Amino acid sequence: MVFPNEVINIIKKLESYGYIAWAVGGCVRDTLIARIPKDYDIASNCPPASVCKLFPKCVVTGAAYGTVTVITPTMPVEVTAFRLESDYYDNRHPKTVIHIDDLKTDLSRRDFTINAIAWHPHRGIFDPFGGKIDLENRLVRTVGDAQLRFGEDALRILRCLRFSSELDFDIHPSTLDAVRSLAPNLSKISIERIIKELCVLITGARPELLKILIDAGGLAHCGLNRLNNANLLALIPASLPLRLAGLIWLSLENFSLTEARRVLRGMRLDNKTINNVIRLLIALCRPLPKDKVLLKHEFNILPPEQWKGLLSLRSVLLDEDTSDVSRLLQQVKDQPWNRTMLAVSGNDILRLGVKDKKIGAVLTTLVDEVIKNPSLNNQDILLNIASKYVK
Ligand code: ATP
Ligand code: MG
Repeated sequence: MVFPNEVINIIKKLESYGYIAWAVGGCVRDTLIARIPKDYDIASNCPPASVCKLFPKCVVTGAAYGTVTVITPTMPVEVTAFRLESDYYDNRHPKTVIHIDDLKTDLSRRDFTINAIAWHPHRGIFDPFGGKIDLENRLVRTVGDAQLRFGEDALRILRCLRFSSELDFDIHPSTLDAVRSLAPNLSKISIERIIKELCVLITGARPELLKILIDAGGLAHCGLNRLNNANLLALIPASLPLRLAGLIWLSLENFSLTEARRVLRGMRLDNKTINNVIRLLIALCRPLPKDKVLLKHEFNILPPEQWKGLLSLRSVLLDEDTSDVSRLLQQVKDQPWNRTMLAVSGNDILRLGVKDKKIGAVLTTLVDEVIKNPSLNNQDILLNIASKYVK
């Protein structure tokens, strides 16, 4: 097991002050399956206030949960006090957080066996719930009774599907039963938390799993009420905007851009993502260009670097044969198609003596000419064409 020195040093320092500390959660899981962890978590019996004293460069990121983020030169590392969430007043928030000196109890409150493995630089792996075997068998299984664990926190239902899709793991039958029966409880979880997990799920190997939640009504508050032909999602390249465009297309009974925009806003996605998806959907609704000139004009709607994705989306969702356009794309993708790519600028045209208010129209004419014939994109040739507009 190779862990970054930053993590090992924090564990060693905590222990030199008499505390117990282990790496836990996703970083242990990912290290065991040779994936690069997104973040590193340490569980310890050191109280958050003492962590702050030992590591002056730290931020209290989850006071209620006893989480302190220690800033190291290369990465932030979360140090969380051991805890037992005993009682739940809703499907999300622990009512009381009791700090206890017990790694096993800490692991027992984690969601899945594969996320409930601990690692220590000298003591090695501590795996009381069979997480390693489940990792080997590529299986997502709750720690303890699935109905109970999903009843405590409905977000775990979505996390279950997201890990299955992200890691391409199967779901243990009793865990899957509980997913199906408790999926409606997701309606109690905030849209922001849902979308964070949903974005990982949808870009994974099994995006069709989303249908279980949608059919159960668990995502109605996010604007997702139906999903037709969910299996098509996996055929779309695994980029977030492409898969989201597919999701919106397959989930609207009567597709319109207004409806699409409404659902995307309802999902509280950021504006950049919404705009990317909308651009793809606009391009999806247009007829396929029949020649190179028409294709280059379409780049104003969607730039050339996004066309490969668009063509995949079209062939999956519209069942179109896109091979001709694909060939055209290869031929024109590096050719000039807008003003900024012209061999002349607005200032060059101004210097010719063309009137201010005509410059835009002249540049548009030049773009049209260059789109028809890329070899015209030469300063002398374009200035010569433009000079005809001097009055
Ligand atoms: P990722 O690689 O996406 O970060 P992760 O497993 O590390 O996945 P985090 O959200 O970073 O997920 O959470 C860290 C750990 O905290 C998890 O591995 C799990 O042990 C525990 N955990 C997170 N969310 C829950 C939850 N809702 N219920 C129980 N345990 C949870
Ligand atoms: Mg993590």
